[in-house]
Amino acid sequence: MVMRKFSDVVVIGGGVIGSSVAFSLARRGASVTLLDASTPGRATSASAGGLWSLGESLGLGCGVILHTSQKDAGAEPTPLPLKFMDFLWESNLLFPKLATELLTLCGINIEAESATGLLYLIYDESQESHASRIIAWAGSDHGALEQWTPQRIRDEDPLITHNLRNAIHFPGDNQVNPILLNEALKRGACAKGACFIAEARVHALRCNNRRIVEVYSDKGSISCGAVVNAAGAWGAQIAKLANIEIPIQPVRGQIICTEPLHPGTLRSNLSTRDCYILQKAHGEIIIGSTTEYSDFSTKVRYEDICNLAAGAIRAVPALRNVTLKRSWSGLRPGTPDELPILGPAEELENFFHATGGFRTGIVAAPLTGEVVAASVLGLKPKFPIESFLAHRFQRIYD
Ligand SMILES: Cc1cc2nc3c(=O)[nH]c(=O)nc-3n(C[C@H](O)[C@H](O)[C@H](O)COP(=O)(O)OP(=O)(O)OC[C@H]3O[C@@H](n4cnc5c(N)ncnc54)[C@H](O)[C@@H]3O)c2cc1C
Repeated sequence: MVMRKFSDVVVIGGGVIGSSVAFSLARRGASVTLLDASTPGRATSASAGGLWSLGESLGLGCGVILHTSQKDAGAEPTPLPLKFMDFLWESNLLFPKLATELLTLCGINIEAESATGLLYLIYDESQESHASRIIAWAGSDHGALEQWTPQRIRDEDPLITHNLRNAIHFPGDNQVNPILLNEALKRGACAKGACFIAEARVHALRCNNRRIVEVYSDKGSISCGAVVNAAGAWGAQIAKLANIEIPIQPVRGQIICTEPLHPGTLRSNLSTRDCYILQKAHGEIIIGSTTEYSDFSTKVRYEDICNLAAGAIRAVPALRNVTLKRSWSGLRPGTPDELPILGPAEELENFFHATGGFRTGIVAAPLTGEVVAASVLGLKPKFPIESFLAHRFQRIYD
């Protein structure tokens, strides 16, 4: 596509978050240009696609893996704030309608599951008492969390190890295909009039009177009414071009996948303290993932991959006989408090953030698109975003 001379909004970063923001803006009638650098290590293409609004916000998804890897003796992983759990819950609820809309609009099936749920496996007593405290803390607002006995686990999913105490089931924590979701949102935005330009790395922003007036990329420059920073783990670099500091840090996730197995081999999405395991629609089993505060390298280490595989075999012994097909890694956009950075930057009148999706950017994408688009257009977001504004970090830079 050819670069336009002007767009109401330029969105920098064409991952799941930038594409969702572009889609929400375009369907509200704004003229949008979406610029993407096609950078290796993009989180969306590396992701597992879990829609684990409860499991992740309660610290029982990647949170527990991070915690185990840090070997923080005696402590247990902590849940994220309730406000964020509500945000993820509401975002997750948008998937069924979004899936239908995107299928109609651009013919892509994003493979959004509706009934699998997430099962958190509990191996020992300390995990068991931690899990009971978490269930009590979460309350009953977010669906029926259930404790499953070993017998129930065997009945529901016979391949899961018998060597465990019990499990917590999170109904509604399903999965999607993250790459198809990203592609569908991007094409959906274009179907509503947006212009997408690949390999367009943004390297400068021109400011005038507290406004960004022009964006410079490898594919040319464009004048604009507003700019959205959706550059994921590279979000701090984009903010820096506008002389703004935000604390985004890459958090590497290494992940592996098996040869395709018969669909339905695994009946639940599984989370354990060593790894998570989910079977995609085409049969491959994804086993993820390390959670490492890192640099921008996308290396895959033999020892880390072996640990993930060992964790998967512990949870599902039959995986011992399965062939691994691929391993890769991606960079999550991490923030110090593990919450996203959304909405207007105080320093400029027309610069907005949509980054910091960390380990829940896929499930958060639909609502993130909605609230950031509303904020850019001067409308009231349908979910309050005060807790996610960048200026909560101001003291770091004072
Ligand atoms: C291994 C792994 C597993 C995960 N599993 C899950 C999961 O199961 N569920 C879940 O909800 N989340 C998961 N996540 C997290 C989720 O993938 C991320 O939070 C989400 O993808 C972030 O999306 P994004 O669009 O912000 O970033 P990205 O997908 O990284 O997109 C950022 C984009 O910005 C572009 N960019 C960078 N610099 C520039 C520039 N200068 N100019 C123009 N463009 C630029 C890049 O090319 C990139 O395409 C996982 C992440 C990893 C790594």
